[in-house]
Amino acid sequence: MVQIPENLPNLCDRVAIVTGASRGIGRSAALALAHEGAKVVVNYSRSQEPALTLVEEITQTGGEAIALSADVSQSEQVEGLIKTTMDTWGRIDVLVNNAGITRDNILLRMKTEDWQAVIDLNLTGVFLCTRAVSKVMLKQRSGRIINITSVAGLMGNPGQANYSAAKAGVIGFTKSVAKELAGRGITVNAVAPGFIATDMTKDIPSEEIIKLIPLGRFGQPEEVAGMIRFLAGDPASAYITGQVFNVDGGMVMA
Ligand code: NAP
Repeated sequence: MVQIPENLPNLCDRVAIVTGASRGIGRSAALALAHEGAKVVVNYSRSQEPALTLVEEITQTGGEAIALSADVSQSEQVEGLIKTTMDTWGRIDVLVNNAGITRDNILLRMKTEDWQAVIDLNLTGVFLCTRAVSKVMLKQRSGRIINITSVAGLMGNPGQANYSAAKAGVIGFTKSVAKELAGRGITVNAVAPGFIATDMTKDIPSEEIIKLIPLGRFGQPEEVAGMIRFLAGDPASAYITGQVFNVDGGMVMA
């Protein structure tokens, strides 16, 4: 029987990369993984100051973290992110593909560059990071990959054709890669948040939206981080792969 060692954080000596960790869900995920004992790479693209503040917060509570800038939609920058992580800590156990943007508009007004920017980061970025990290995890014969999708990828959302397409793509990608990597002890799962209170949703008028949420409120980033922490944890989630977990206050009930 597999047993969790007593008195040790779950992810002791493990290395986790969280993309887009300077704020929002990624920030909470980085804190949650560090709390479990993981050494955390706090990736960001532009927000250096909040990323450094988060690293300080983690180190002040006895954890280990570094902030690494990389636009994860760019292949060379992703390769640099993985190389620096390996040069620093020599292994990668958890990848949280969290970085994401929105460029909302109705279909007829959606500019091609807004379609492309969302696909480039929210879908191609997930591919680039997963491909790069899988080389390391395949050699280790272990790893956890957690992709942040969205309820928009499951049910669609008017004004978000680009975002919904990218997030639905992430779900198909998750299932295919889960099947490819399962034989080497690597699990790949997706988390689908509903409406979470972050910078991404701060301008959304909440009154109408809340009527669609059975639990009657927006979620908090920590509530998504809880699911990420569970999926990263060994051995609690070792027998779960290729799944999508909704953290959405009951918005989508399949
Ligand atoms: P957020 O608060 O806007 O934070 C986005 C993060 O992504 C920031 O840390 C940002 O860092 C980073 N980022 C942006 N472009 C990047 C790039 N090219 N390369 C690397 N990092 C980049 O967003 P959030 O609400 O926490 O969302 C996190 C994830 O959850 C996204 O994938 C989003 O689609 C998904 N999600 C969110 C909700 C929600 O309601 N909030 C719902 C469903 C799904 P910089 O500032 O440095 O660019």
